[in-house]
Amino acid sequence: MTAPHAPLRTPGRRIVALIGAWLLLGPAFADRGRGQAIQYERPVETAPQEEDIGGGYVTPEVQKPQPRAYWHEVLDVVLLAAALGIAVWLVVWRRSRKWVVVLTVGCLAYFGFYRKGCVCPIGSIQNVVVALTDPAYAIPIVVTAVFFLPLLVAVFFGRAFCGGVCPLGAIQELVLLKPVPVPRRLDQALGLLKYVYLGLAVWFAVQPAGLRDFVICRFDPFVSFFRRDGFAHMLATGGGFLLLGMFVGRPYCRYLCPYGGLLAWCSRLAKRGVTITPDRELDCGLCAEACPYGAIEKMRAVRKDCLYCARCYAYCPRQGPVATTKLVSLSDRG
Ligand code: SF4
Ligand code: SF4
Repeated sequence: MTAPHAPLRTPGRRIVALIGAWLLLGPAFADRGRGQAIQYERPVETAPQEEDIGGGYVTPEVQKPQPRAYWHEVLDVVLLAAALGIAVWLVVWRRSRKWVVVLTVGCLAYFGFYRKGCVCPIGSIQNVVVALTDPAYAIPIVVTAVFFLPLLVAVFFGRAFCGGVCPLGAIQELVLLKPVPVPRRLDQALGLLKYVYLGLAVWFAVQPAGLRDFVICRFDPFVSFFRRDGFAHMLATGGGFLLLGMFVGRPYCRYLCPYGGLLAWCSRLAKRGVTITPDRELDCGLCAEACPYGAIEKMRAVRKDCLYCARCYAYCPRQGPVATTKLVSLSDRG
């Protein structure tokens, strides 16, 4: 018999929950889909032109990155879906830290430096919230897809998006030098900040059009690096996060990222993900020491906190490089 408040654990229940969410949100997005028919135009011809202004005036680029052809945006969604699938395969089935690092570098190069950090699921929280609350605001289908895809994957497999696909996580992952453990209570207290930030971001986004602000994008600490441009204070903030991130594993992800909060909620439903099980590992504790994100408790990976880095597998004496290079077969030792 099922307990009255049992979490949604079976695939059937997860699918029912997803269909329910779709039925709830679908009409709102379908209604706003009409906005997709409007072609993007920048009405610069109605403003004074460079030749009218004179003095060597050059019209500034007001939008970064520049709008792209629709099929390019669809390609981004396809690549995002492919990267998520690869992350799941590499971590859940291959358990390969080496190839997760390769994926991390590739996604940082494409979604970070080439696509200049836009469009990203983290910022899309605001677009989705405004689309749901303002009838005059429409968002492209690709933004909707970018918002939902990582959450959908998290419902089934955990935070695969954080494991090498997200450029913000990737840049922090690659600078991590010598992680120091954060005391559990402090870690948990700081972890609540991301929900406060999520609430603030939603509150600023649902203001009337003239007062609206997208604070997640405005205060994105790494986008200035991706665009090789930005305010000095944001470059300094990003640099500060990277410096701190050399010793504290992914501080932005663990304590501030509002999308990380949503992924954590969704990943609680996941049946598959990083699994440290006695039948495959030794329960020696090396994995817990190797996890820089405090995501292993009582020798088990905590789904909501696990950032899919696969370090725990790499440090396992039974199956990681330690086992293959030193030819250790602890199971043979009796
Ligand atoms: S927690 Fe946020 S910033 Fe970090 S990898 Fe996940 S989505 Fe990206
Ligand atoms: S449990 Fe820790 S080390 Fe293992 S994949 Fe998750 S975050 Fe990485």
